[in-house]
Amino acid sequence: MKRRDVLRGVGVAAAAAGLAACGQQGAAAGSGKSDVQLQWKMVTSWPTNFPGLGSGAARLAERITQATGGRITVKVFGSGELVPPFEVFDAVSRGTAEIGHTAAYYWKGKAAAAPFFCTVPFGLNAQEMNGWLRFGGGMELWRELYAPFNLVPFAAGNTGVQLAGWFRKPINSVADLQGLKMRIPGLGGDVLQALGGVPVNLPGAEIFTSLQSGAIDAAEWVGPYNDLAFGLHRVAKYAYYPGWQEPGPTLEAMFNKTAFDALPDDLKAIIDACCAAVNDEMLAEYTARNQQALDNLVREHDTQLRRLPDDVLVALKRSADAVLENLAASDPFARKVYDSLRTFRAQAQAWHSVSEEAYFQARR
Ligand code: CA
Repeated sequence: MKRRDVLRGVGVAAAAAGLAACGQQGAAAGSGKSDVQLQWKMVTSWPTNFPGLGSGAARLAERITQATGGRITVKVFGSGELVPPFEVFDAVSRGTAEIGHTAAYYWKGKAAAAPFFCTVPFGLNAQEMNGWLRFGGGMELWRELYAPFNLVPFAAGNTGVQLAGWFRKPINSVADLQGLKMRIPGLGGDVLQALGGVPVNLPGAEIFTSLQSGAIDAAEWVGPYNDLAFGLHRVAKYAYYPGWQEPGPTLEAMFNKTAFDALPDDLKAIIDACCAAVNDEMLAEYTARNQQALDNLVREHDTQLRRLPDDVLVALKRSADAVLENLAASDPFARKVYDSLRTFRAQAQAWHSVSEEAYFQARR
């Protein structure tokens, strides 16, 4: 606690210094570009340089530092270095750090609607998330949800559709989900539980040993690129797809609203562009790396790659609809967000049935 209090004190002092610097800049605004020099901290929910997610955070920090010509210098702290992974929201909210790189579905306990801005089971894919956030009203709702917490969110990364997970035994029917102990966090876990499974929430670092010891029967993590690095194929033979539980999670960059609002308009625009660039770049990285990793898993490590049976997917979808409906019924703002997302999903699905989906089928 002592250390945390010290860190909190430092954070408040730094935030105050940052605001003072912005104030000086404000006074000099008429003379063109500001000479503001801000030292900002970015806290993340990922280990430093963790492939994809951690490297996305690092690239965002680099881009902001470079694109602002050093007017904002961003230093990244991996999970646990300044605050634990699941305290990023509070740390940025109170100004211990000015930026957080994390995922909105971790904050369901703060705001029931939060998961909709990352991913929900059978929700939007990456392309659709970007459409909803930018042109479907999603971003306005996200900003409205986070404003009372003194936060400004931006989309800053996406993994694309994940794998359904790694299983020690094959899944041939819905009955095989009965009693299945699976590492699957959040709403995906609620969906599994409704079908008789036993969801377990474990941090990434504990997945391998838990699968190895048989403490769990299955685990979802990210996709081939990250899962290969974790060695999950060495403790579970079957890789199942598609990742119904996380069809295109948006990673978020959250900014302390007091610090962000004090910036001159050019720096706000630069930050917006840097987040958009990283949002695009992370998906590109996963798109490029996932299949290389999957080839390696199947060819070199005898991973059994399987599609979840249709009846299992149908049951999961039905369960997901009920779980999302319950979430919406629990909170008026969650209801508003779910209605917006569901309307957009129906539109996107209609368009994608004659564009992306039809094209993928034609290209086979
Ligand atoms: Ca996942």
